[in-house]
Amino acid sequence: MSPAPLTVFYSPAYVVEGRMETVTKAKLVAELIASGQAGDVRLQAPKLATRKELERIHDPEHVRSTFEDTGAFLEVGPWSQPLLNSILASTGGMRDAVKEALRSGRSGSLSSGLHHARRRAGNGFCQFNGLALAALEALKQVKTVGILDLDAHAGGGTFDILGADPRVFLADITVNSFDSWEPTDPARHFYYEVSEPRSYLGHVEDALHFLEPVEFLIYNAGMDTYEKAGGLKGLTKDIIRKRERLVVEWARRRKIPHLFALAGGYKWGGLSLAQIAELHLETVQAFARP
Ligand SMILES: [Zn+2]
Repeated sequence: MSPAPLTVFYSPAYVVEGRMETVTKAKLVAELIASGQAGDVRLQAPKLATRKELERIHDPEHVRSTFEDTGAFLEVGPWSQPLLNSILASTGGMRDAVKEALRSGRSGSLSSGLHHARRRAGNGFCQFNGLALAALEALKQVKTVGILDLDAHAGGGTFDILGADPRVFLADITVNSFDSWEPTDPARHFYYEVSEPRSYLGHVEDALHFLEPVEFLIYNAGMDTYEKAGGLKGLTKDIIRKRERLVVEWARRRKIPHLFALAGGYKWGGLSLAQIAELHLETVQAFARP
């Protein structure tokens, strides 16, 4: 019997044309998936995140202003209804990816712009923290959750929201000091900034080892670590590919539900949006492998 296809959450609502990569690249990744290039993957539209669930992770005033202050500048551009819907779809995709991973063992969402968002405000192109929402959703069913953040930048927003929650383990490996945070509990907080590309995968293995106690894995699969996407010089596509396999094989070996979000990946290093989408496809392929 062949295994069930991987379900990945995405809908055209994720996309606002003409804006930055955070709200445009998912469309290209979805097209690659639809053309069969990621393997046996099924795309599914999520339900939008609601105000009520966003207030579980954010200050109600931040949620209110995002919904109602139509003259405001959101993290990914000036307020518009399509932009708000994009944020709500992408955040809701994380919640639905949790439900799917709890059901079938694995899933993903083509969501970006999550981990810098703090409890009281957006930050660094992230309006709401879908990783934090996903963790609380998973904690309805499991006792411990790990968030593995391998974006180039640190998840200071995730730490702000969940750093004090004893059920949440945070492992964050960066190649850049933006949004860095100080671990306050060595049993649950793992943080390392890599400057030597040859040691990168070793640190990823250390982070996975650190996450051994968790019953559920949320993986923020940033591609802005790649040398040609503005990341660390010497951090090649081959290293990224091996990284994705390491993470997936670890979660499968441990038989814990696991899911991914796209996270960072920008044209800063000179790549086209299509090349960024191909990088993100590496994650989807690793998750979809039978
Ligand atoms: Zn980043």
